[in-house]
Parts: sequence; C-alpha cells; structure tokens
Amino acid sequence: MLMLSTLLQDAAALGLQRIDAQMLLLHACGREPQDRAWLIAHADQALSADQLDAWLAFVERRLSGEPVAYIVGHKEFYGLRLAVNCAVLDPRGDTETLVDWAVALIPTDRIFRVLDLGTGSGAVALAIRSQRPQAQLTATDASGQALAVAIRNAASLQLPVRFVQAEASHPDWFSALAGEVFDLIVSNPPYIAEGDVHLPALKHEPTMALTSGTDGLNAIRSIIAHAHHHLYPGGHLLLEHGHDQAKAVRSLLLSHGFMSATTRQDLSGTDRCTGAARMG
Ligand code: GLN
Repeated sequence: MLMLSTLLQDAAALGLQRIDAQMLLLHACGREPQDRAWLIAHADQALSADQLDAWLAFVERRLSGEPVAYIVGHKEFYGLRLAVNCAVLDPRGDTETLVDWAVALIPTDRIFRVLDLGTGSGAVALAIRSQRPQAQLTATDASGQALAVAIRNAASLQLPVRFVQAEASHPDWFSALAGEVFDLIVSNPPYIAEGDVHLPALKHEPTMALTSGTDGLNAIRSIIAHAHHHLYPGGHLLLEHGHDQAKAVRSLLLSHGFMSATTRQDLSGTDRCTGAARMG
C-alpha cells in the first residue's frame, strides 16, 4: 500500500528535498503547511486516488524545477503568508535582511514615507508595513500581473499599501512618481547578469524579476542615478544585490550624492544588501 511514509521515501529517492516533499504532500492532502506533525502522526495512512494523482503531478512539477511556492500557491515571508504565482519572484528568505534593515530605520513615533521599487508579490512592502503600522508605504512594479498579486496580498493581510504601476521599459524606475519624495527607498531589483549559469535553474520565475543587463547592474544603476530626486536629505536607499556586487553598489552610491555606504550580510554570511544616506 502507498502510505504517506512510502511516498516521502520515494520522493527522496527521486531527489526531492524532504521539506519540499512534505509541503507538496500536505498540499495534495488539502492540509496546511504547518501540519507537518500530521504527516508524522499519519505516516501509515494511504492517499485517495485523487490525492495520489495530485501528489504525482506536484512531484513532477517540482522535479522540473518549479518552485514549491508556485505549486502550492503561497509562501511564508517575514511571518506573512503571501499568495504567489509565476508572475512574481518567489520571495526569498535572504530578502528578510533588507526588511530588517528598513524596519530598524523607521521611527515608531512619526509618519514616515517608504517606497518599495519592484514589489513583485508585495513581500518587502507588506513585511515593512506589518512591523511599522504608522509608515506610509508606496510600492511599484512594471508588471500589472505582479501588482495584481501584491494588491491581493495587501487586501488579504489587511495591510494598506499604495500600489503604483511603473512604466514598463522606461529606464527611470521613478517615472510614475514624478515630484514625490520619500524618507526611505528600498528595492530588491533584478540583479542577475544575463547569461549567468544559475538562470536555467530559475526558468519558472519571471525573467524581468531576475536579470538586468550583462553585469546584472542595470536596474541598480538606474535606481541609484534617480533616487536622490525622490529622497529627503538624510533619507536612506537600501538595495538588495548579488553576492559579488557590494563593492560596485557602494561606489555607485558614493558617486551619486550618497554617504556612509555600508553592506549587510544575509543569514548565510553572504553580502546581500547595500545602503547609504542621501547627502543634505
Ligand atoms: N520585491 C519582491 C521580493 O523581494 C520582488 C523582487 C523582484 O521581483 N526582483 O520578493
């Protein structure tokens, strides 16, 4: 008989990570992701024919490289359950570094305007708003499909964020925000170099969320070049970037009217975010 424990062993033999297989099996059984104890308690239970079909289809999708988040339709980020689909980047735990930094810069006793550029699922903007209820969040994306996901997440989490559609293919990431000024700007922009060897493994995620020019820095260059028009003096710009881009991002910031550029590492100790303050 095909018991749950047998299915998990089969999945491991096929090369699936245990946590991924558990998430997919719970989803096939119509259970919540936090029900992993249920899997253990029911290890000798068999699936119905429909559940078995669903499980086999999920395993096949995962083996083809599709993120678990797309298969189950949601992802946990900063303690928030976000709906996700293939129109948005699968939110990464590494990006919590950016949120931690932003939250630490936001005072709790006054109105503070925060901008998230390229919000995707809304992950960064919503996480910040969940921690700082008096912050006023604006979030942009050039993809209407991504904004639809972010708007749905804001509504279901009851976290007010103002969403603005950015002009696709416009080199200035702020073009839809003419005349607007913020206390803090954050972004996890696309930063992978076109042609990077890791891209085939990310083929299910939107290319526009991943790559940005031959060195991966086009989006970051554009954001840094325009950010000072949209920041109050002393306001910070915080950017997520690739493991080998910190030095380049710091020097771009310092040559565009920013001071005190510093880099922070993610939980694995990899350079992940660089930020600086606009000069007065
Ligand atoms: N801001 C979103 C996230 O961090 C999307 C980032 C992106 O698509 N590059 O998950």
